[in-house]
Amino acid sequence: MLDLSGVTVDYAGIVAVDDVSLSAAPGAITTLVGANGAGKSSLLRAISGLIRPARGSIRFDGAETTGLGPEELVRRGLCHVPEGRGLFPYMSVRDNLLSGAHLRRDTARVRDDLDRVFHYFPILRDHQHRIARNFSGGQQQMIAIGRGIMSRPRFYIFDEPSIGLAPLIVREVLDTIATLARDEGCGVLLVEQNANLALEIASTGYVMDLGRITLSGPSAELKADQRVREAYLGL
Ligand code: ATP
Repeated sequence: MLDLSGVTVDYAGIVAVDDVSLSAAPGAITTLVGANGAGKSSLLRAISGLIRPARGSIRFDGAETTGLGPEELVRRGLCHVPEGRGLFPYMSVRDNLLSGAHLRRDTARVRDDLDRVFHYFPILRDHQHRIARNFSGGQQQMIAIGRGIMSRPRFYIFDEPSIGLAPLIVREVLDTIATLARDEGCGVLLVEQNANLALEIASTGYVMDLGRITLSGPSAELKADQRVREAYLGL
């Protein structure tokens, strides 16, 4: 569903992503693991059109999408839930959620999707008129995921969804992502600092180091790999 070939991102000569090729299938979770500064966010930003790769090709759903802008990619069904969530802190939960649907004209289905978000996160229904900044980190992550659902994507990109959250909430957030992929048949590319949990819910994984993919394979194999265990799982 998502195919990258030889993607390179540089910031005025500093290479952050170096010749990366990877694929992510529909209805499955693919995870990208790597240390701080490995280039994961830069790669995600290139996929969702926020930065333009210097070289390489990105294909989404069979079409070349390299160089397309973020709005066009959202229209084509790609949703990026960014690191730090990017909510509107002084807007209500409901308006934050609806902002995810701003490119849609199918009003009736937007309402159905809002119900779907509330089905996943009942607490957001109960407090939908409160402003986003008054919610806990975990609840704000729910709003960010909910806003993603509102764009009715076929593919989600999650950048560090569990950052700064308490361990119990981390599992809850990652379980919701797994449920989304399963229930809705969506593809997911997940960058997650908790490599252990990420490899648990993903079917395929890639390891990134200094801008390059150094290992890839079924997540069960990566989890058992001694290099991954030592560098990323703390074992
Ligand atoms: P983290 O987990 O810390 O977010 P990451 O794996 O997502 O790390 P990136 O944020 O993509 O890595 O950063 C990769 C490299 O590119 C780093 O050396 C970083 O300093 C550099 N970099 C990132 N954004 C920019 C920018 N806008 N301008 C210049 N250099 C940048």
